[in-house]
This record gives sequence, structure tokens and C-alpha cells, in this order.
Amino acid sequence: MRRLFLPVLATFLLATPLCAQDTTTYTHADSLRGSLVSPERTWWDVTFYDLHVDVSPADSSIRGWNGISYTVLADPHELQVDLQAPLVVDSMVQDGRRMQLRQDGAAWFATPVGTQHPGEHHALTVYYHGRPHAAHRPPWDGGFTWTRDSLGNRWFVTTDQGTGASIWWPNKDVQADEPDSQRIAITVPDSLVDVSNGRLRSVTHHENGTTTWEWFVTSPINNYGVVVNAGRYAHYSDRFYGLNGPLTLDYWPLAYHLDAARHVWAQTPSMLACFEHWFGPYPWYEDGYKLIDAPHNGMEHQSAIAYGNGFSNGYRGRDVSGTGLGMLFDFIIIHESAHEWFGNNITARDNADMWVHESFANYAEGLYVECKFGKAAGARYIIGARNGIRNDTPIIPAYGVNGSGSGDMYPKGGNMLHTIRQIVGNDSLWREILTGLNREFRHRTVTGKQVQDYIAQHSGRKLDKVFQQYLTTTMVPELEYRIAGNRLSYRWTHVVPGFDMPVGVTLSDKGYTVIHPTESWQTTTITLADPGRFAVDPDYYVTTSRAGPGQVIPQNR
Ligand SMILES: [Zn+2]
Repeated sequence: MRRLFLPVLATFLLATPLCAQDTTTYTHADSLRGSLVSPERTWWDVTFYDLHVDVSPADSSIRGWNGISYTVLADPHELQVDLQAPLVVDSMVQDGRRMQLRQDGAAWFATPVGTQHPGEHHALTVYYHGRPHAAHRPPWDGGFTWTRDSLGNRWFVTTDQGTGASIWWPNKDVQADEPDSQRIAITVPDSLVDVSNGRLRSVTHHENGTTTWEWFVTSPINNYGVVVNAGRYAHYSDRFYGLNGPLTLDYWPLAYHLDAARHVWAQTPSMLACFEHWFGPYPWYEDGYKLIDAPHNGMEHQSAIAYGNGFSNGYRGRDVSGTGLGMLFDFIIIHESAHEWFGNNITARDNADMWVHESFANYAEGLYVECKFGKAAGARYIIGARNGIRNDTPIIPAYGVNGSGSGDMYPKGGNMLHTIRQIVGNDSLWREILTGLNREFRHRTVTGKQVQDYIAQHSGRKLDKVFQQYLTTTMVPELEYRIAGNRLSYRWTHVVPGFDMPVGVTLSDKGYTVIHPTESWQTTTITLADPGRFAVDPDYYVTTSRAGPGQVIPQNR
């Protein structure tokens, strides 16, 4: 998918921060898919998607239409709608007339009908059909998963993060443009229940043995959050009395998983209480909270979390932190639900800033442990997750090409946030920052830079080099030091130019003191009874090394 070399590469490298070391070769198709600035996308702002899809599991095909309402922002161009092969657009219709169509891979360009002016509202309908790509390794691989439950009943779902929602429905497939609301009407065989996003508005049986499940989302929704889950579901509900009042909780396990679900999914209210404490109100009181049994690990589909963690604690029975703490909760309920705040409420405009979703969701796991088992346990969990850091490629790849960075966006990103919490050094302020992010950027799409700036401004700390170091390089900051008598000399190495992160170290036997290393040597007094016990506060994700005997350390700095 990303093997061809085309000249568009250079254009997008220029748009990339200087420190990013993404050497991936991106294709023309990647540029069409990932661009936030192409004229075919920026002149119109989606306000409503009206999605109707008939699903025929017997031949793995779908057929449907999406009504796209939009506001004109600038003089019209061609209009790019994305739909990935083997699905095909049959027609696009505006004001009762067929639009002129031009296809370039997964991008379908339509010529608007008539004259359109900035500020006006228009709509068009995209008709399409085909046998959508089948996901082989969901949720990592996008498309439809066609399977059967253990009783032999049909069970099919969609996943498409990264791959893009256009793997199964036509839309402006970029995270930067969310509709203000969306209908999702899915028609399936009568024997099945479809659970999509938001609230169920109607169930309509048809004479041909199918049923339409009409769901409606009243809030902006990221397009990868839109989902089909069709199976022999049971249903039970509950209420959570949270910061914004009563929140409906709807649980949709397969019927034969009902008892297991009632047992394991009971973790949901404590998760919501913890995350409301740290992040502010659940973002979708109007659309409710749902957990839905899925034949894959799980995914943060907005207001409709997909769950496939085997109804047991840990992550598929494992503890990702290696501390034992990860076995005390169900990873998928906690991690995927954290995305309701970071990922769904605050959505990265460009997939390259996916750390805004995953670093915070990873960090949220530690906060959940903290809520349940205390601050020290939360820190132990986050620190334990460092075992999973690879430092292979930077967390932020190239922008504008739907790029995805290193999996380090999870444990390393979480540890970056844990480190920044130490720099902030004030837990109530840190909590105010996390809730403030969700208030400031509520129901919005953002750049990673906006998130960085918000944290820096509201903490009053200089964090630009910290973010640059952890997000755009694979270097772990190393505190190089030498102790001679009662003098500690220290400096940062393996850092970006100008790196100036403060760090806690043991200058005395009374605990950690914050020092302010730079790349230049500095010296301070140390009163440790045993200099061999010199240590850096483990809450900071850094390493240490002793200056070699041949190392000349300038004095009086
Ligand atoms: Zn995640």
C-alpha cells in the first residue's frame, strides 16, 4: 500500500516537523486519502451524514446510500468523496440531477450542480454497492468481519480505524471534518439485531425478511467511530449518575454471554466515575454509553464501545504492565472507554497525531489503577508499561498522508504524560489540565500542537522540548553524571538541541530534589551518605549514565 514512490513525497515532508524521521514512502493514494488541505475537501464542511446500508451476509455484500449535507465555506471545486474498492459508487445525485463523476482510486470527484456560494447549505446523495473488503485481523485491519458465533448464528461487524471508514461507506474520509450529527440505518436479516452508535430511534420489519435498525447520533462523531454490529444480541441497561446527571448504560452481549457480561461489565460504573474525576463529564450523555460484544479485541466506537476481551481481566488474559496490576481490571473496558474523552471527544485532525488518542488512553489505564488502588499503584502500572516501548520510529510520522506512527504512542506516550505530570508537580493542577482539555476541545478536532500548547500554557511550564523529544525522536533522555566528594555534576545527553527538562534526583537522603539539567555540565552539592545510592525519580522516563573516567567536566558551571 505504501511502496510506490511518487513526487508528492517531497511536498508532504516539508509540512512535517523537522525532527520527524519518518522515512516511509507515501503514495499518491495516501496523499488523496490523508490530505487536510486539498481544495476538493476544504471548500465544504460536512454537517450531517444520513447513512443507510442494507447488509446481505449470505453473499457478503452491501448496498446503500449516504446523504451528505454540508455548508459551503469557499468557492466550489470538485468535491472529493472517498469509497474504497471493491465498493463502487453507482451515482451521486444533487438537486435531483446526477453529478458528473471522476474516479481516482478510492477518491471519487463530483462536480457540484448549479452555483453554490459560501455560507449556503447543500446536500447530495451517494449511492453505492459491492462486496466490501473483509477484515482479516480486526480491529487492526479494516472492513467487515463476517463470522458466526459459537452457536452458528451470523455475526458481522465493521472496524476501520486507520484504514478509513470509506472501506465500507462513502464519506469525506479524514478525521478533520466531523458531521454535527448522523443517522445510521442498517438493514439486516430479521433474526439479527444491529447495534450502532447513539440511540435507537426505530426498528422496521420488512416483508422480505429483513429489519432496519435506525440509530441516531446527536453529536459530532469521528467517521471511524461509526459502526455496524449485527448478531444475536441480548440487552440490559443501567444508569450511571454522573457529573451531568443520569447517563444511560446499555449493554449488548451475545445472548449466551449474558451472565458473563453482567459479571465483568459491572466494572463500567467505576470506570466512568474515575474518568469523570480526571477528565470531566462523559462527553455523550445525549447519546448514552454502550458496550457491545464483538468478535475482535475491541474498539472505541463512539458511544458504542466494541468489546471482545473474553470476559476476563487483563488484555486477552495478559497484563501489559508486567506488574500484576493489569490483571485487576478489564483492559478493553478501561482503555477503549478512555477514548470517549481522548479520541472521540477530542479527535486528532490528522492521523499522524494519533498519540492524542492513544497516549492519553494508555495514561488513563494508569489513572484508573490510581483511582482503584492508589497513586503509587498507578505509577507502578505506567512505569511497568515501559517494557513495551520499542523506540523504533518516532510517535509522530509525516502529516497529510494518513500516516501512523510507532506503537510507542501507547506506552511511551503514556510515560511522557506521566513524566509531564511530575514536571507540573501539582496533582490538582494536572487534573484541571486534563479536564480543561476536554472542556476546551469538547466535540472538536485538534492538532497535536494545540494539545501541547494547552498543557504548556495551563501548567506554566516550558514543554516544547519535552514533547519534541518524546514524540519526534527515538532517543531516551540520558542524565549523565559524576559524583566527586560532595559535588554532583550532571547534564542531558541523547536529547534534542535545547532540551531542558527538569528532573527529580536524590541530592540528600530526604528524597528527590528537582534539578534543571541542560546539555551543558552543571554542578551542585550532594549530601547523600552513600553516593552509590544516587538515583533519578523513576516517575520520569529517562535513563542515567556515569561520566567515564576520561570525561572532562568543566568546573564552576
Ligand atoms: Zn486505543
